[in-house]
Amino acid sequence: MNSTYVPLEHISAYLSWKKIVIASAMFLSSTAIAAPHVEKVPNVPPGAHNQGIDLPDQAQAPLPDGTPLQILWTNDTHGFFLPVYHAEYSEIDSYADTAATEGKVGGYAQIAGLVKVLRQGIWEQNTLFVDAGDTFDGSPVAQMTRGQAVVPVLNAMGYDAWTPGNRDFAWDKANFMAVTGQLNFPMVCANLKNADGTYVFPRYLVKQIGGLKVAIIGLTSNAGAGTGTDFVVSGVGGLPAVGAAFENDISALAATIRATESPDLVIALSHMGFYIDQKLAAHTTGIDVIVGAHTHHNVYTPPVVANADGSRNVIVLQAGSHGKFLGQLQLWVQDGKVTSYSNNLVRVTAQTLDDMHATPDPTVEALAEQAYAPFASVLDEVIGQTTTVLERRGDTQSTMTNFLTDALAERYGVDGARFPGIRYGSSIIGSSSNPGPITVGDVWNIVSPNFGDNKVYTFTQTGAQILGALNNGLNTEYGTDPYQWNGGDVFRFNDRIKYSFKVGKPNNQHVWNLSATKLNGTVVNLVTNGVPVSANLSTVFTFASTLPGGTAVPNVTAVDEIVSYIKSKGTIAPKIDSRTTQIGSEPTNVTDIY
Ligand SMILES: [Zn+2]
Repeated sequence: MNSTYVPLEHISAYLSWKKIVIASAMFLSSTAIAAPHVEKVPNVPPGAHNQGIDLPDQAQAPLPDGTPLQILWTNDTHGFFLPVYHAEYSEIDSYADTAATEGKVGGYAQIAGLVKVLRQGIWEQNTLFVDAGDTFDGSPVAQMTRGQAVVPVLNAMGYDAWTPGNRDFAWDKANFMAVTGQLNFPMVCANLKNADGTYVFPRYLVKQIGGLKVAIIGLTSNAGAGTGTDFVVSGVGGLPAVGAAFENDISALAATIRATESPDLVIALSHMGFYIDQKLAAHTTGIDVIVGAHTHHNVYTPPVVANADGSRNVIVLQAGSHGKFLGQLQLWVQDGKVTSYSNNLVRVTAQTLDDMHATPDPTVEALAEQAYAPFASVLDEVIGQTTTVLERRGDTQSTMTNFLTDALAERYGVDGARFPGIRYGSSIIGSSSNPGPITVGDVWNIVSPNFGDNKVYTFTQTGAQILGALNNGLNTEYGTDPYQWNGGDVFRFNDRIKYSFKVGKPNNQHVWNLSATKLNGTVVNLVTNGVPVSANLSTVFTFASTLPGGTAVPNVTAVDEIVSYIKSKGTIAPKIDSRTTQIGSEPTNVTDIY
């Protein structure tokens, strides 16, 4: 399967106008030094140009000129070391069928098994295997152990480098240093400092891979994470942090590396997100490839972005999330420039392993099962069922957060409930004809209690505060500059908080209509046709959330509350509904903001 490309129509609906128009916007300065044409070529299957392995005809086609390198990578596995279900927002209605056919996706043992096979043939000495962060927070066991349970599994994977993601800062600095201090592979990060100004990890590393000397620059993000004053992360938090100073710093670093180490290739291992990566590629010099993460994009066809002086074309990559893809880039280098490449997102399923004559790595499999075992009796308890697919991938709502916010509002008898705009977590599968079980582990996944402290809080919000929070989120998702697109930060609300929004509007003007309905049925309009209803903005609404703030409900945990809620319902069927609506057509050309 790895010699064919995944058809375009499989690209997530989320991979929308933003990526496509930006990819087509080549940023060239007037003093451009012509970059070589970068040609996309067919993938070279494992075992190609090797003896004794049965291969399709294409495998024996002539190789492109130059020195080859294969980059394999994972990103945003979020501590899901065992296979999971994972539906995209666009797959809510179809994923139950998909899951029935392909089973679960990901799992480190399966990934390691694929890596072993993909290292065969010409790639035996020429493969770099890296991870781009968001590794320690997400799965129930990862949350319960503050990332610790993931460590032994990761250490059996054979990674060449890792850079942290924002969720790897989910706990305090001591925890971060303790967990990462146990990793047996190099950590690299160019924009992560201690409070005293020293760098936490080397800013870059250089490695000889086969015939090429490869430099790897790490780039992290602390978006949405509570790093507080423990760390200083430059270039983070939207504008102006990812501005010219940050761009200059990265270009200068790449220039220093090139001057002192003479690498054949400079790779950025980035957890900044797909949009920031593309703009950064266009506004910096010296980088050849960005192996990206954070926004969970399934980048089947990577943009190739001309860099700031036009001397290089930068290939910008990302491989979804939750281990459902193993990213694969094969490239050929001549005279210090990439001249040809092929890429693939290898879907990590039992069928793929079968097709490629791969088997799950037994060592990794044993370690993953061992990491899960102590928690199995608690997490595997079935507490109810669902007749729809629960996922958390939508930009402004998802079936999982619709369920959670509605449940909190009902249980606490409040006007509003909200949840952070996180988009990670496995999916829970059910359909009307075949309801799926919900376990206690699923509730850990739904509540993500470490995005808070596993408590429920009640508080009040004025209309103005609701609108302000919504504006902040929409600015980072639909703002006027790609550097603002940090990730999914739009609060999720229960169905009594209803809004429509327009894409392409200036910051703080995206909301078109916003209303909040009180428990007693009174509808309070807060924005009408783009105009805030000032008389109503001081109206006070009661709220509940699992995010700290206001008054903690005594003697309950958020997980227990949702477990007992599901038990009381027996069957749930959350759906996407009209609580959020995107109106107006999306821009077809945003190059002017580039
Ligand atoms: Zn992230």
